[in-house]
Amino acid sequence: LVSRRHKSEDTIIRIKHTEFGGTSHVMIAGPCSIESRDQLLTVAAALKNAGVTVLRGGAFKPRTSPYDFQGLGVEGLKIMKEVADEVGMVTISEIMSPSQIDTAARYVDIFQIGARNMQNFDLLKAVGQTGQPVLLKRGLSATLEEFILAAEYILYNGNDRVMLIERGIRTFEKWTRNTLDISAVPLLKQETHLPVLVDVSHATGRKDILLSCAKAALAAGADGVMVEVHPNPQASRSDANQQINIDEFNTFWKGLRDSGFF
Ligand code: PEP
Ligand code: MN
Repeated sequence: LVSRRHKSEDTIIRIKHTEFGGTSHVMIAGPCSIESRDQLLTVAAALKNAGVTVLRGGAFKPRTSPYDFQGLGVEGLKIMKEVADEVGMVTISEIMSPSQIDTAARYVDIFQIGARNMQNFDLLKAVGQTGQPVLLKRGLSATLEEFILAAEYILYNGNDRVMLIERGIRTFEKWTRNTLDISAVPLLKQETHLPVLVDVSHATGRKDILLSCAKAALAAGADGVMVEVHPNPQASRSDANQQINIDEFNTFWKGLRDSGFF
């Protein structure tokens, strides 16, 4: 069902005035985790002002260690809805289990399925039974075939509003958190009709090469880019090393606009 052989034309997902997979690129930005209303509103207002339409932020966080910040949960989703309604943005937040779907559906526009849950088949089936858009992340060590088949679960269960996002894979390289697999972009575009995006923050885990990686992704045919932005990254409760501040975002954004990608 995800294959170009099944459907040749690009799938376009429209949410409010934003189109994923259409003729223009989409920027998804926001903090790794929602930490407070003040934190999210500060970022959202700055992003909206810059012309960004999609706000990200985690409320249910899949942390490697149980001792790390686990996210604000439903409280975080409520903050997200309040802030997004105030500034007028489309929202995206991760869900980790089928039991979170009904609640999350009340507060966010797009469900994110994280890398660690790419093959959580019960979750894939459950979001497939909703009509809500899903952003599916590539698993930490997933092949493109496994990635595409995970998306297939969602369409097979009835939901065709699915977007794929490359977020780097595990290799032996240590200078980046993950290895950005640029070849995934043209291959996923060739094999599937779904929108394809690239998360440059999790792919690299660093701030200094985000612009080059985003340009590479868009030049390779990606429909959009995701980047983590926090008002004060050093003080953030997750992914402190890779999040950029608002000034850094504005420089990154200008670089992409100057190159004609937005
Ligand atoms: C995230 O986007 O917040 C996240 C946890 O990313 P990933 O699932 O790609 O590691
Ligand atoms: Mn993160």
